[in-house]
Amino acid sequence: MTSKSAAAAARATVYGYPRQGQNRELKKAIEGYWKGRVTADALRETAGELRRTHWKQLAEAGVTEVPTGDFSYYDHVLDTSVMVGAVPDRHRAAVGADALDGFFAMARGTQQVAPLEMTKWFDTNYHYLVPELGPDTVFSADSAKQVGELKEALGLGLSPRPVLVGPVTYLLLAKPAPGVAADFDPLTLLDRLLPVYAEVLADLRAAGAEWVQLDEPALVQDRTPAELNAAARAYRDLGALSDRPKLLVASYFDRLGDALPVLAKAPVDGLALDFTEAAAANLEDLAAVGGLPGKRLVAGVVNGRNIWANDLTASLSTLGTLLGLAERVDVAASCSLLHVPLDTAAERDIEPQILRWLAFAKQKTREIVTLAKGLSQGTDTIAAELAANRADLASRESSPITRDPAVRARAAAVTEADTRRAQAYGERAGAQRSHLGLPLLPSTTIGSFPQTSELRTARADLRAGRIDVAGYEERISTEIQEVVSFQEKAGIDVLVHGEPERNDMVQYFAEQLRGCLATQHGWVQSYGTRYVRPPILAGDISRPEPMTVRWTSYAQSLTDRPVKGMLTGPVTMLAWSFVRDDQPLGDTARQVALALRDEVNDLEAAGTSVIQVDEPALRETLPLRAADHPAYLDWATESFRITTAGVRPDTQIHTHMCYAEFGDIVQAIDDLDADVISLEAARSHMQVARELAAHGYPREAGPGVYDIHSPRVPSTEEAAELLRTGLRAIPAERLWVNPDCGLKTRGWPETRASLENLVAAARIVRGEL
Ligand code: GLN
Ligand code: ZN
Repeated sequence: MTSKSAAAAARATVYGYPRQGQNRELKKAIEGYWKGRVTADALRETAGELRRTHWKQLAEAGVTEVPTGDFSYYDHVLDTSVMVGAVPDRHRAAVGADALDGFFAMARGTQQVAPLEMTKWFDTNYHYLVPELGPDTVFSADSAKQVGELKEALGLGLSPRPVLVGPVTYLLLAKPAPGVAADFDPLTLLDRLLPVYAEVLADLRAAGAEWVQLDEPALVQDRTPAELNAAARAYRDLGALSDRPKLLVASYFDRLGDALPVLAKAPVDGLALDFTEAAAANLEDLAAVGGLPGKRLVAGVVNGRNIWANDLTASLSTLGTLLGLAERVDVAASCSLLHVPLDTAAERDIEPQILRWLAFAKQKTREIVTLAKGLSQGTDTIAAELAANRADLASRESSPITRDPAVRARAAAVTEADTRRAQAYGERAGAQRSHLGLPLLPSTTIGSFPQTSELRTARADLRAGRIDVAGYEERISTEIQEVVSFQEKAGIDVLVHGEPERNDMVQYFAEQLRGCLATQHGWVQSYGTRYVRPPILAGDISRPEPMTVRWTSYAQSLTDRPVKGMLTGPVTMLAWSFVRDDQPLGDTARQVALALRDEVNDLEAAGTSVIQVDEPALRETLPLRAADHPAYLDWATESFRITTAGVRPDTQIHTHMCYAEFGDIVQAIDDLDADVISLEAARSHMQVARELAAHGYPREAGPGVYDIHSPRVPSTEEAAELLRTGLRAIPAERLWVNPDCGLKTRGWPETRASLENLVAAARIVRGEL
């Protein structure tokens, strides 16, 4: 070990911990409160108990500094809005009447008022509530939650470090409030916001905080000079405060880039940086600015957002390099552990040997503690842990799950021709027109029909053994019959089978692919009380058997109209899973694509003439830095083409994405070389259609005319008007008629009425052509 003295007291810490509890106690308590079954006091009691349990878990594992303030009943960005008094006007009355109910009203809306908008937290699958700000926003400090949690932890004899969303990131994540000009820049409020942060910091200091962490992940994105200046100003001002705790400014998810020298120069006491592979450049950049003399460096060497066991030896080597670069070096996960499940020990269905390859929050905590000990006391003191870790990594590397020679050979043999359809779109379109014989403005849906409680019960009954496979399949067949017969009667042109057999559009496929693992308790917060259990793409991926052919063919056997096959695309499969970290994402995407290609070809061979490959995650998976976009889009679009390029020219490939803003990826959408794309458009009055036209998008498109996010039924005239608007941008030969997205969250009554109106609208507008 190079400099034992500098490392003598390396501390182990984390920035945040999963909130829900081992049995999702928090979800149950909050939802119980909403339903009136749990009192506010009981909810607070459960929340306090969970915080205590988690802090104790951390402390007992050897974490020296525990985070506080990271806990939330819903979302920590919403907590920050409350902390700085940025409550939207429409919610003031509710918040004034009851803070807790007002908080939930902002999160979820009420009959009378809309909630805050929700969007993705950087490139994770966590969603935060977007602050709404305007030139008239008046901030005011409310440090009660932060101070309260700090005192709880101090009362337990722990050494807590409050964690706050930093002021620059808070403003950069905000948007203009309703009624405020769209070009209002929330960052102009910085000077008004900083005194509020100063007050909160003083309160935390007074309550006993030695250190406070300010999270600034927005600084790992491309930032303008003005934004970097704002960051410099913010930390110059906060650093200059006399009555303040020590400040640790944290960044994660990517490299700091140009923001690194800004923060390194700021008069704060420490920086926390991500040193995992995605942010590896931080290491060189830090050396290039001369390190952080006199400051504390918290090194995020354990990946906080994947579920793989750390390579302890490699991390120790990174930590060793960092030792000379700061006054002291502490060890952490790269980001809050919010993004991973709690504990691998709860998993009973994964082989013990494979379980050792994985690390959830509890295991990551142990890794951090081990690394801190190795760094402080020498690697001999963790020899046993290092040996066990090497054995686990070796077992993973040499496992047939990790390396399937047949899959590798096939992926290596992919040629340019495999990634291109035999004919260009223009030629294919004619072949498809004569093959399918569809009318102008053909109508279709996006795939799923209502997932009724009967269907969910049937699945639960199957799992619990209350019904057998035959009984379950009987239920599914009946459902498909009903879905097909409804669509025929309604007059839809291209039918779907309705996806009743799918629990989830990613999990359903992951369960059938070789190389994927499913967890029983691997819950991760998506938003509020919604938790997901992402599958783990652990090894080389292949498809032992057809996955969708049976139900698609069954639906086709019931009707003369074309039934569209329905698959989840390779990018979305990766985006909504935990993906192996031992090879580039593009390599894994290619394996998934080849597995899906077999499915596409089998569907075609079984008589399916229209096949949809959904890629709702194409845009959200864009890397945080623009410089990394081309490489991503390259493998992303290629994997889609590998999936779909094996079909005949007269087989029509559809794709679907659920968002309205995609100006920045129109080229990529074109590079998918799909024949038809459906997109969300109803709320934006067909904005998408105009954007496609502006970019000269040459293919067929179905901008949605039915907003499926609410039970509201669009009238025939309303849908017809949207179609007419669409026709001003896209010619009739290339315009499709469909809803915005799948109907799985809708009920049958509104689904029936809406689709009948949609078909009627198509007929009316066809008559006008
Ligand atoms: N085919 C899927 C469905 O209809 C698509 C879902 C999605 O776009 N998120 O449910
Ligand atoms: Zn969708």
